[in-house]
Amino acid sequence: MTTPVIVWHREDLRLHDHPALDAGLLEGAPLPLLILDEQLLARADLTPRCQAWFMQNAAALRQQYRRLGSELVVRQGRPERLLPELAQSWGVRAVHFLQSHTPYGLQRDRQVAAALRTVGIRAEAHDGLYLHRPGTLRTDGGEPYRVYTPFMKRLRLLPRAVPLATPGRLPPLPVGLPPGELPELKSDIPLPLAGEAAALAQLQTFVSQHLQRYHQTRNFPAKPGTSRLSPYLTLGVLSARLAYHLAELAGGEGAQVWQNELIWREFQAHLLASYPDTLESPLNPRWQGFPWRDEAEALAAWRTGQTGYPVVDAGMLELAATGYMHNRVRMVTASFLTKHLLIDWRQGERIFKALLLDGDTAQNVGNWQWTAGCGADAAPYFRIFNPLLQAAKFDPDGAYVRRWRSEPGLPPMIDQAAARARYLEVAQAHLQRAESPVIM
Ligand SMILES: Cc1cc2nc3c(=O)[nH]c(=O)nc-3n(C[C@H](O)[C@H](O)[C@H](O)COP(=O)(O)OP(=O)(O)OC[C@H]3O[C@@H](n4cnc5c(N)ncnc54)[C@H](O)[C@@H]3O)c2cc1C
Repeated sequence: MTTPVIVWHREDLRLHDHPALDAGLLEGAPLPLLILDEQLLARADLTPRCQAWFMQNAAALRQQYRRLGSELVVRQGRPERLLPELAQSWGVRAVHFLQSHTPYGLQRDRQVAAALRTVGIRAEAHDGLYLHRPGTLRTDGGEPYRVYTPFMKRLRLLPRAVPLATPGRLPPLPVGLPPGELPELKSDIPLPLAGEAAALAQLQTFVSQHLQRYHQTRNFPAKPGTSRLSPYLTLGVLSARLAYHLAELAGGEGAQVWQNELIWREFQAHLLASYPDTLESPLNPRWQGFPWRDEAEALAAWRTGQTGYPVVDAGMLELAATGYMHNRVRMVTASFLTKHLLIDWRQGERIFKALLLDGDTAQNVGNWQWTAGCGADAAPYFRIFNPLLQAAKFDPDGAYVRRWRSEPGLPPMIDQAAARARYLEVAQAHLQRAESPVIM
């Protein structure tokens, strides 16, 4: 009889291009496992929409396994306690999984590996969530990259793994092993179709119909110019390696620019892996101690789409209603919060994370810091998105604003030019203080 090995799924809810499943198949009979991690389930920012999106994708993964003759086993608890117990009672000799790179994921995986070691079971981490292992690309000087363009150029030169195919039949579960329940949770918003079949179909449609013009259409929020694959990429329902590979095969300027966006995803993961403190602190130390304003009312107006700036309000209403916001509008709304309202990027980051279906720690933190001017490769602090000019340029006929903001707009909560001047004054004074030597 073939020895069972656990294939432990986390943020990799797919069967295609799955190196841990592949390794499990090479070694023995894969026993697919999903642990509903109690520590993650208890997180305050885990909103009904995000929980339901995760569960629906897990249910779709279970269906995929059933189609191939296997079954996804589901248990709830703390992975470092459950895994050694389960592995021992099922008689497995190894646990295979795709390496996570967030501070929480890394710590959890270290604890799990240590707990498994004490009972003589191997933990094997495989790459597969990114094109290249985050945190490993170094400049010629041996430092982690902090600037996107050289990172992108370097990454493009590296050899890439060819995406793996979905396995054919899989061995059935040992007789008598209860599969366990997957809770059916209600979302507060309609969700996209869950599962890798839906993600792969959407990828194919995007590549065949939109990719070639991506570089021309991607900044216009009213157009179907971008892939909207981010909610699938965040839960690993879609392999980024496969997406990149298909763009490579398609070729052309649109494909190149789209690959660059996938490389931004790599860059943000690389930054968080290299500088885990950026979870809470600015990457650029000059921004330490920035005098953000603590203004609950202004924050609430921004969150609920009542700033009086049409594109900002439309963006926040799109986010509330769909769990998605177009990238251009994310930049404008985030800039408005941090620069015009002078509210701490961390407050906006938390609100986005709770409402986005693609909410991802590295991507969200990195992009918020970039927009606020305190992250890697950020535009200079004096470049401030003007929400009125941005709307005129990227939503010239107002179609995007009309789609999300049904009521006539409120008067602006703050004068654009005055808010801009206030921000510049505060930022200049802060940066001067940050640069002047401390006199002891
Ligand atoms: C303030 C702010 C917060 C953000 N928070 C998140 C987040 O939590 N999760 C998230 O996945 N993206 C985040 N982004 C990046 C970006 O807005 C989304 O990835 C993109 O809008 C997703 O739409 P799409 O799938 O149609 O993208 P496409 O344009 O089709 O791009 C393809 C893929 O490339 C990646 N990508 C695109 N733009 C970026 C970017 N700027 N940074 C990193 N990766 C990118 C995404 O994985 C995306 O799915 C944020 C951007 C900003 C400005």
